[in-house]
Amino acid sequence: MPDFDPTCLFCRIAVGEIPSDTVLATDEVVVFRDVNPRAPTHLLAIPRRHIPSVAEVTDADAALLSALFAALRTAAGQAGLPGYRIVSNVGPEAGQSVFHLHFHLLGGRPMEWPPG
Ligand code: 5GP
Ligand code: ZN
Repeated sequence: MPDFDPTCLFCRIAVGEIPSDTVLATDEVVVFRDVNPRAPTHLLAIPRRHIPSVAEVTDADAALLSALFAALRTAAGQAGLPGYRIVSNVGPEAGQSVFHLHFHLLGGRPMEWPPG
């Protein structure tokens, strides 16, 4: 799988070809605001490298996953969220619409359970 897919929206956001409201960026990951927020704080954390979803993550990605969760923790702290939800939809049946690994970080309102 190539690291960059020119047809992938989030690959293009990661390199700045498509603008985004970025809140945190490192060599490996980018965190930016969701264009259609479902909560007062709705961020997306992505690896710069193209991975379609959690289903394609391998043991070799352990450090990358650690970096993603570190970025999520930092972004939640910067947003001052006392509590938050992290979600990753896997496959169209679960609501995935962009096929580049991403974790939603939602907060700033009460969260219901179970999610819809
Ligand atoms: P999924 O449906 O795959 O779990 O999540 C994809 C998310 O990407 C959606 O919440 C959607 O609002 C967001 N999104 C789609 N296109 C763009 C875009 O061009 N910019 C940003 N910032 N978010 C986007
Ligand atoms: Zn991609």
